[in-house]
Amino acid sequence: MNDVGLIGLAVMGQNFALNMARKGYRVSVYNRTPERTKKFVEEKVRDESIFPFYTIEEFVKSLKKPRKIILMIKAGKAVDDMIAEILPYLELGDLIVDSGNSHFADTARRLEYLSQKNILFLGMGISGGEYGALHGPSLMPGGTKEAYDLIKDILLKAAAKTEDGPCCTYVGKGSAGHFVKMVHNGIEYAIMQLIAEVYDFMKKVLNMTNEQIGDVFEKWNKGELNSYLMEISYKIMRYKDKETGGFLIDYILDKAEQKGTGKWTAQTSLDLGVPTPTLNLAVEARIISHYKEERKILSKLYSKEKNIISVNKEEMIEHLKKALLFGVFMSFSQGLWLIDEASKQYNYGIDLSEILRIWKGGCIIRAEILDFLRDIIRENEEDANLLHSDKAIDFIKDKLNSIYQVTEIGKNYRIPLMTMNSALDYYFALTEENLPANIIQAQRDFFGAHTYERIDREGIFHTEWER
Ligand code: NDP
Repeated sequence: MNDVGLIGLAVMGQNFALNMARKGYRVSVYNRTPERTKKFVEEKVRDESIFPFYTIEEFVKSLKKPRKIILMIKAGKAVDDMIAEILPYLELGDLIVDSGNSHFADTARRLEYLSQKNILFLGMGISGGEYGALHGPSLMPGGTKEAYDLIKDILLKAAAKTEDGPCCTYVGKGSAGHFVKMVHNGIEYAIMQLIAEVYDFMKKVLNMTNEQIGDVFEKWNKGELNSYLMEISYKIMRYKDKETGGFLIDYILDKAEQKGTGKWTAQTSLDLGVPTPTLNLAVEARIISHYKEERKILSKLYSKEKNIISVNKEEMIEHLKKALLFGVFMSFSQGLWLIDEASKQYNYGIDLSEILRIWKGGCIIRAEILDFLRDIIRENEEDANLLHSDKAIDFIKDKLNSIYQVTEIGKNYRIPLMTMNSALDYYFALTEENLPANIIQAQRDFFGAHTYERIDREGIFHTEWER
């Protein structure tokens, strides 16, 4: 009998099956299209204890009880269809783990449905791409503790490791795992866009070559900005196209694709009423990038006149570094606040410092700054708003002049800095006691009798404005 079953043998599933087998587990595998299973076993499996099955019934029967089945298939209807297919063969206390990028609301629904049938269920976020799936991803499982305990040994062994332990923890109740993975991706979108804006600035203001940009990114990657996304960015800047011999980056069309998790983060933050403008604008930036033809037409209609400012290149690179750190800090800060609010509203019971710990290895947003953020969270007794801490105040103070310089000069050169500007505006708005929302309340009351509160006395007021 085998220890664990895995369904879905595309890139993630193949590699995760190999990962678990290399940790000493006997793994049963199944894929809807049998040719894929056959090809995987013939071409990728060597000495690993991986056993292919071509019917669901045989696959399920090959597993030790209580059975543990991990789904690594396309998110959405495919997950419901697959659950329906395996359900007739399962017994009380068996466990299904959905490790695709499922929407957290679907996970909550499936959890409810399966608990009525006494089948355990975990919604597990996984990050690290195909490399992580094989060598150790960051795993974000959520659901009942009982379900987690059943499979935790396997997950802890398969996960990436850092000096703070395996990058896997019991994230929380219900759909907590998929919620946290969704926000992870929202932060990922924001950091990618921030790096893209720095790259744009370096090219258009500082006239830097790809090699020079790559050198600066590599240098940054050795310090405070050390992160997986910084590392791949400097490698990208240097990569030569095999066909043309030029830099591949210069041949890539400037239209950013997306699969939806960044959009879900933005939608959810609006639903929960948590401000995450930098995360949201990273999605908007991808959407605008998609209108290539429209941008081409409009770029000819409007003046490209720049206000050339003489800048000291070395100083400006230092400002860009600090501005990027500012943006990254605000992105994590917004994401953590969103997770915390969801944890309260959905009763997830999430420990924020544990989330930061399991993001330290394996995942796409792994970064040096996570240790600093963890210190803040722990010192402030899990207060989700990082901006309250003294450490954050000092950190921000040190970066402010740089983000001012970058956003100001960016405007003079007509460079869209959507996430940089939003991070600064978020900071301005959140740290401002008096916002102009009073006039919005007056307008609402004027046209819709929506009422308002006053600063000088308690109560709800309405005014007949034109009388
Ligand atoms: P895909 O998202 O491309 O999904 C392909 C797999 O899903 C194949 O095994 C396919 O089977 C199966 N599938 C699709 N529809 C059905 C269905 N109706 N019934 C049964 N099986 C179905 O594969 P990935 O490996 O890229 O990702 C797997 C999951 O992990 C996804 O949810 C993805 O969002 C998530 N993920 C992916 C990451 C990545 O870097 N790729 C990173 C993190 C998470 P068949 O061969 O029969 O078509």
